[in-house]
Amino acid sequence: MLCAIMKEGQLICLGDGYRANELKRLRNSHSFYCPVCHHEVKLKVGERRIYHFAHKPDAACPVSHDQESVYHLQGKQLLYQWLKKQGLRPVLEPYIKKIKQRPDLLVKYEMKMIAIEFQCATLKLTDYQKRTTGFVKFGIDPIWIIGGNRLKRLTNSFFQLSEFHWQFVQRKEKHSKLLFFCPEQKAFFILEQLTPFMKNKSSASVTYLPLQQTRVASFMTVSKRCSSLQLSGWKRNLLHFRTTSHRFFTKDTKQMMELFYQKLHISLPFFPSEVFIPIPSGSIFAHPVFVWQGYLYLYMIDRSPFRLDSAVCYMNKLIRTRRLKLRWNHREKVIDAVNEYAFYLCKKGFLSKEQDVYDLNRPLFKESCLATLLKRDAYYFSE
Ligand SMILES: [Zn+2]
Repeated sequence: MLCAIMKEGQLICLGDGYRANELKRLRNSHSFYCPVCHHEVKLKVGERRIYHFAHKPDAACPVSHDQESVYHLQGKQLLYQWLKKQGLRPVLEPYIKKIKQRPDLLVKYEMKMIAIEFQCATLKLTDYQKRTTGFVKFGIDPIWIIGGNRLKRLTNSFFQLSEFHWQFVQRKEKHSKLLFFCPEQKAFFILEQLTPFMKNKSSASVTYLPLQQTRVASFMTVSKRCSSLQLSGWKRNLLHFRTTSHRFFTKDTKQMMELFYQKLHISLPFFPSEVFIPIPSGSIFAHPVFVWQGYLYLYMIDRSPFRLDSAVCYMNKLIRTRRLKLRWNHREKVIDAVNEYAFYLCKKGFLSKEQDVYDLNRPLFKESCLATLLKRDAYYFSE
């Protein structure tokens, strides 16, 4: 941790930029105590690690700060200084007694209290929910910023995102957003238009914001649309998917493969372009893109002409019977995903819409020639 109190009750905050010799001098003449549990803490002024306070090994403190990494300490300090430079008055590691929580930073911004959590270590979903609800109940808006060391870029527009990442997605807006901060590069990375392809592999638009040129407002408002770069990355990724042999299949993939084989006699690499549509709202489904869209595709073939409501009803039935799993319990968002999916297919001429009724525009397309299939992908995944 970066803050402690001295005997006289005075708070010392290492975020304020002390020099090593100053701290060593202080250390010789003062004792330091944890602001939360009041146990004595040690001031560490090493050459390699960032200066910090540490509890003695046996101290029981209600707020866990075990094994804070250098990366985390450094990030907290930089974010604190960054907020101060903007004329704001952040508090580092404040302990909020009523909710027994200590966010990394607390700052008043545009009449709102904001807690900033810089999360570098693994965090259980239950802990995340508990902490988030704690803040919200107390009238504080939490902003979760993930450690940049947890950002794994696979290609230009593809990232390895696991359930750890998805729990932090800001879902207030229609489109999902993830914030990262890297203290080593002194920069924020904002991922938007998160669109899962496989379970742990998602496409996203990334914005790089150097700390010095960024203000709080800028990362609250950044909003990128699905870029052509993202779309061409999506197409490349699909090409790779179609031409690489797959050895391990998850249960949901196997089910979809069986369904397509029974109904249309096509195998996974030859699945139609229509089940690989990049729909950001589809991130609500905890499945590969071709699984949730596969169900919709087969539904359209069987039931066209159809109304949007009935397609949504059908998806909800799959959720109830656990064929489909939601990533978040926001059933009302299913309609967005289905709606955007149908909209895309209309735009590409696969569906037509008259009043509220959708119908298949073309005879069913079954392709067993890879080259033709790729041409079709090219048509589907370009602007
Ligand atoms: Zn303590």
